[in-house]
Amino acid sequence: MAGFPSLRSKKLVLEYNIPISKTLKFWEGLKEGKVFATRCKMCGRLYFPPVADCGECYSSDIEWVELRGEGRVISFTHVDVRPPSFRGAPPYTVAIAELDDGVKALAWLVGAEKKDVRIGMRVRLVPRISDDGFPLYVLTPHAADNS
Ligand SMILES: [Zn+2]
Repeated sequence: MAGFPSLRSKKLVLEYNIPISKTLKFWEGLKEGKVFATRCKMCGRLYFPPVADCGECYSSDIEWVELRGEGRVISFTHVDVRPPSFRGAPPYTVAIAELDDGVKALAWLVGAEKKDVRIGMRVRLVPRISDDGFPLYVLTPHAADNS
């Protein structure tokens, strides 16, 4: 059996094709350095990430709203034991921020030392392009009032 591939485990790769046509403006916006949310024109509810249909009143009459993206950390966790897809990455921090715009955002928090991350710290939601070329967004410390 020498040289035979392991019979104890097999690698399984899953690939998903997620339709994004109704939220394309969001991905295009990230590439242009803008973070968009959607607002329901019927009931006024703001959504981030954007949605094509309102979960509150079921209307599909939505408008795009550019977020300022500033807010405060309301929860975070440091991830040392990474899932397989992030095993090559260094340990990272995931945070939830409550944005002044009126929505919450879940994202990686980058640019802050682990010891410096705390509830209430000011952050900004900013667009990024991943190493493999995909638009995404991260939270970064917003130094202006992190005294
Ligand atoms: Zn609505």
